[in-house]
Amino acid sequence: MDQRIEIIRGDITKLHVDAIVNAANSSLLGGGGVDGAIHRAAGPQLLEECRTLLGCKTGEAKITKGYNLPAKFIIHTVGPIWQNGNHDEDELLAQCYKNSLRAAEQNHVESIAFPSISTGVYGFPIERASRIALREMNEHLPHAQTIQKIIAVCFSEHDYRLYLASAKEFDERKKI
Ligand code: ADP
Repeated sequence: MDQRIEIIRGDITKLHVDAIVNAANSSLLGGGGVDGAIHRAAGPQLLEECRTLLGCKTGEAKITKGYNLPAKFIIHTVGPIWQNGNHDEDELLAQCYKNSLRAAEQNHVESIAFPSISTGVYGFPIERASRIALREMNEHLPHAQTIQKIIAVCFSEHDYRLYLASAKEFDERKKI
């Protein structure tokens, strides 16, 4: 794993980073889970700005200000809803990470935190999602322009352990 990737357990809304990523829905008008938590913490101005964006397609990303959050920006991305794995879920999830990182670079972000996109209400198996998330972070960093730190934020102890196991597996594979 690239040394610039950190896996932590915590609440993404509390982090002092340049940008946090929101696992939004395609309306961008708020929802449950991490989306609800971000809107509550950022305040009502976030919804006002989101209304002007006219939604977001699955796999794409749109950026707003962070308002009352410690983070300067929020990058809203829409993860795929897990069906059975045969509906481009893996590729669409990878696109969420790629497009979020691209939006971050375009806005000169140096530090960015991701939640575990799609693994809540959207039902993507977390082990599989964590491998995709960590792979995309690792692939981005060697050609990063402004990003110096990527934080993978796990909300539960269970998710945190799975992410650590995937990171270990990633390192083991590298050694062969
Ligand atoms: P999705 O619809 O993309 O599945 P969810 O918000 O339901 O999005 O879940 C995505 C992940 O975000 C889940 O692992 C969930 O536990 C986690 N999560 C929920 N609240 C927070 C928070 N405040 N900080 C970080 N992660 C969170």
